[in-house]
Amino acid sequence: MLISDFDGVIVDGMEEYWWSARRAAAQLLPSGVPLPQAAPEAFRQLRPQVHHGWEMPLLAAVIAGYGQPLAAFHVDYAAALAASLQQLAWSEPQLTEALDTVRQQAIATDRQAWLALHRPYPWMLKALQRLDAEGVPWGVLTTKSAGFTADLLSSHRLHPQVIYGREDGPKPEVLQRLLAQAPASGPWRFLEDRRLTLEAVRALPALDAVHCLLATWGYLRPGDAQNLPAGIKLLDPEVVTQPLAQWPAAAIVQAN
Ligand SMILES: [Mg+2]
Repeated sequence: MLISDFDGVIVDGMEEYWWSARRAAAQLLPSGVPLPQAAPEAFRQLRPQVHHGWEMPLLAAVIAGYGQPLAAFHVDYAAALAASLQQLAWSEPQLTEALDTVRQQAIATDRQAWLALHRPYPWMLKALQRLDAEGVPWGVLTTKSAGFTADLLSSHRLHPQVIYGREDGPKPEVLQRLLAQAPASGPWRFLEDRRLTLEAVRALPALDAVHCLLATWGYLRPGDAQNLPAGIKLLDPEVVTQPLAQWPAAAIVQAN
């Protein structure tokens, strides 16, 4: 069974994230604050640090000059995020709601235009369509909402067996539940572009049997692909289009 992250692994959602983030931020900031139409370089640079969707409208506000200076995010992302949230007196649920509302409106008014802001990686599209055709089970585990993810996948005629979104809890917990429910569905492969998430999975002995794979084409921070621990392997686009059995093995082998 393959469990894959969505943003930065199946789909390049950079344009959509900026599109939604700037609209959500504009609703919360004083009116008339200028925010560029196209995703600014500063946003692209910080995207690999982002864990949850709500962080993106906050980053849009930071780019517009609110909250902590941009440089602070490059020094300590988590601290700058928390300080900015406090400075602006915004909350995580408020930002999540603002982002969801923007997306719901976009889907209701111009669904095709909204879908077109997402660009699937061709090698992933090919690999997942082949898994579907072969009847090989695969699923999606994302910090996006499951509803938006299902919409996007079906627009590309992709039909995962399961979709777990931000509503289902942290990824390592969801994986633990999945393995406990269907231990015989192995070998399990977990494909991500966020190294910290793979490291969190690797830290749980209950998930030793999961092959943790880091997508080289995703939103990686500088140095993410270097000095990986033994239990995490890089996955290149050329390998993705090969059968699952050819993908690198990265499970932890228990010493007896
Ligand atoms: Mg990702």
